[in-house]
Amino acid sequence: MASDPTPGVTCNICGADMEPATSGGRETAGCAACKSSLRLRALVALLSRENFGVAMTLPEFPTMKGIRGLGMSDSPELAKRLAEKFDYTNTFYHQSPVFDVTKPDSRDVGRYDFIVSSEVMEHVPPPVERAFESLHAMLKPDGLLLMTTPYWVGGTTAEHFPDLHEFTVASLGGRPVLVNRRRDGATEVFEDLVFHGGHGSTLEMRLFTDESLRDALLATGFKAVSFFGESQLEFGIDHVEPFSLPMVARKGQISSAGLGVGSRVSRSISSGGAKHSRARNSHR
Ligand SMILES: [Zn+2]
Repeated sequence: MASDPTPGVTCNICGADMEPATSGGRETAGCAACKSSLRLRALVALLSRENFGVAMTLPEFPTMKGIRGLGMSDSPELAKRLAEKFDYTNTFYHQSPVFDVTKPDSRDVGRYDFIVSSEVMEHVPPPVERAFESLHAMLKPDGLLLMTTPYWVGGTTAEHFPDLHEFTVASLGGRPVLVNRRRDGATEVFEDLVFHGGHGSTLEMRLFTDESLRDALLATGFKAVSFFGESQLEFGIDHVEPFSLPMVARKGQISSAGLGVGSRVSRSISSGGAKHSRARNSHR
């Protein structure tokens, strides 16, 4: 029987074979086995590159319980697998273990090698810079913030409720409205609110731009910010949109493997033989 010349496509989250990427948006569920979206696969591809310097599926990641990570409402499929590989804790806004990025715990300062923040920062009450400062403080000196958030290309962030202070979302005539008392005592009401799916606080507070995100993260103290638009067809990652790409902010100086463990891991991979035969260099 002739072998199929078409390279296989593997879900880099669960390791299952999957159909080649279709030209859907980033939320399109491409993997029939774990329902992973292009957004999540691209985020894990970035995690692999940043941590290990090679493109591996998550099941192929070496187990490194010395690496401490924090998730912010990560999907159960992703969180389960990250917890198998790392000292990783998923957290939630409305359920235990609770993490509120606007009220960080001083015990978390300098604690994490990486933080995953996927589709959270657009929902954090302003000023969002305060949240970036919290995440920066929670990372170790060479830690990584791996992030996705909707953004548009060029221009400045559209902050929907810039003077938010004491606020609540109420129902008026069957439709949600946001009522805010500003610091100067004046009240304001906003209609036509945008909510995203999922659990927790899903009111869209802003629409970022790439430029504003980069500027805000650098102003916070991150040393480098990169957007990851590289398609990896072998993992069903085919970016057809120039916006809302996964991004990484490095707290320390740029290195080929952000956690400073790259050379150690590379050695263990090269001595690991066939188990990691799928590992390949990710030349940029
Ligand atoms: Zn999958």
